[in-house]
Amino acid sequence: METVLILVDKILDNKEKYKQAVDILKNGGIVAFPTETVYGLGALATDERAVQEIFKAKGRPSDNPLIVHIGNKEDVSKYATGVTEDAEKLMTAYWPGPLTLVFDKIPGVIAANVTPGVETVGIRMPDHPVALELLRALDGPLAAPSANRSGKPSPTEAAHVYEDLKGQIPLILDGGQTGIGVESTVLDMTTNPPSILRPGGITQEMIEEIIGTVQAGSQVPGDEAPRSPGMKYMHYAPKAPLFVISPDETTIRGTVKMLQMEGKRVAIIGPDDLNIPEADWYLSVGPRNHNEVMAARLYGALRQCDMTEADIILAVETDLTGVGTAVMNRLMKAADGKRFI
Ligand code: AMP
Ligand code: MG
Repeated sequence: METVLILVDKILDNKEKYKQAVDILKNGGIVAFPTETVYGLGALATDERAVQEIFKAKGRPSDNPLIVHIGNKEDVSKYATGVTEDAEKLMTAYWPGPLTLVFDKIPGVIAANVTPGVETVGIRMPDHPVALELLRALDGPLAAPSANRSGKPSPTEAAHVYEDLKGQIPLILDGGQTGIGVESTVLDMTTNPPSILRPGGITQEMIEEIIGTVQAGSQVPGDEAPRSPGMKYMHYAPKAPLFVISPDETTIRGTVKMLQMEGKRVAIIGPDDLNIPEADWYLSVGPRNHNEVMAARLYGALRQCDMTEADIILAVETDLTGVGTAVMNRLMKAADGKRFI
């Protein structure tokens, strides 16, 4: 299969391009498109065979549920029950935006393989003009995980999608670089109080400002059991083993020298201001503790590591303010829990 990449910008009339995407989707195909978080790989969420194509193209484990993307807030009630007053408040405050709400599903509407093994459905309304226009033109729900091969970092530009899925999908809508760079926050509205299953673009503080206390558990993985099906899988991992390391220059320089004495070449993902002249590669993710910048650049940096010949990657940790919790959650997953000091 040939994979076509088409540019969708705001100035030109893009009707024809959306029509092409909608035709593919209505005929059971899958299309990659930009959202404000990362690129998604979409199928019509009511078409079980089309949804199966997503799992196939990604190599995604089939017990890992997909998020349903909608173009209008009101559509929630077509697919979910138990939409509480608190949920309405969150939708008013943060939709469109990077917040997925998990509700009890209405049986028989969304295809069964979108939500394998669970009675719930995760729904969000993305805040990106291309995603919204596609949903409007399709006039239906899109089941869409991130548009990467399973296990790899999520794509933050169309070239990443092409790299992972060329030959497997017919069309990528190229809307440039995504803004936020980490996936949506997943909030389970079926528990009391609601619980954060995955930290993301909307922080715990932002949620609590609207509805009061929520359960957060340990959002940066360590020893806790998975509460959401997808949480048990290795994620976001570059090819070389990755270790998280504390932001202390002396420690990092010592670690790099030690690793190099073992014959290893070392790539570092870290802030602009650290001075580690020994590093074989240094991939900067912005000023120290500027977590929004780091979120936007992290997956690109993880992918760049695969273009180096590094034997080991050290990723410098950031603080947990704002989207820092989501950044550290992804980094600890990419590291499979491993860290140097
Ligand atoms: P991705 O589509 O790659 O961003 O991953 C979506 C993630 O959202 C899954 O791996 C789950 O952790 C979570 N998720 C989606 N739907 C549900 C649901 N119904 N219940 C619990 N978690 C969900
Ligand atoms: Mg993903």
